[in-house]
Amino acid sequence: MRIVRETHLTQLTVFPGWFPVNVYLVEEEQELTLIDAGIPVMAKAILQAAQSIGKPITRILLTHAHDDHVGALDKLKAELPDVRVYISRRDSRLLAGDRTLEPGEPDTPVRGGVPKKVRTRPDVLLNDGDNVGSLLAVSAPGHTPGSMAFFDRRHHYLIAGDALQTRGGVAVSGQWVPWFPFPAMATWDKRTALESARKLEALNPSLLAVGHGNIVKQPEEVMNRAIREAEIRLGGKGGPSEHVTPNRS
Ligand SMILES: [Zn+2]
Repeated sequence: MRIVRETHLTQLTVFPGWFPVNVYLVEEEQELTLIDAGIPVMAKAILQAAQSIGKPITRILLTHAHDDHVGALDKLKAELPDVRVYISRRDSRLLAGDRTLEPGEPDTPVRGGVPKKVRTRPDVLLNDGDNVGSLLAVSAPGHTPGSMAFFDRRHHYLIAGDALQTRGGVAVSGQWVPWFPFPAMATWDKRTALESARKLEALNPSLLAVGHGNIVKQPEEVMNRAIREAEIRLGGKGGPSEHVTPNRS
């Protein structure tokens, strides 16, 4: 397991050279918040990393409910029965294995590995703007309908889940990256993802941390470039009015 530390943020990575999967420990005064639960094999290393920091994990925040972000959840919950699990209301349905769309959503199928056997149920359903310790929950749909990013208000770190990727170059979720196309393949709605990337850029993060790829410091320029590239590829500005909303009646 590769470990990278940036003040209150610790990134843990499996398969860094091949198929990097990241989770993050965010340090608070008395406790730790885990962002994402990676793949099952990461459970032990996550617990060990918390032990070496010397604080208990009291919360698990999930950016979204894809398999490679919730894989160790049941194992961790078994080891840490008091831990509270947080996910957006929308992605809590994915966590329960339900891929169906909700009224008004772009009519494109939810993609990617949606868990079939996760037993853990969330304790808290997150809304845009909720505060969890030092973290601000920011709704960032597109990769999945209920994706969330977390913004550490202390240092302006952005933990963006799969709303962006940095592996193979910084890209907005849904944009094809030849060296690491998997997040694009698993993305639900590209235009929604682009809107979310603009919203995340506007937070002016000092550091970008994602589900797949290395941490990027001072990401302003690369995020801006990734957004421009997505705009060009999607043709036009890709604003909400351009959604093709089917008539469901
Ligand atoms: Zn994903």
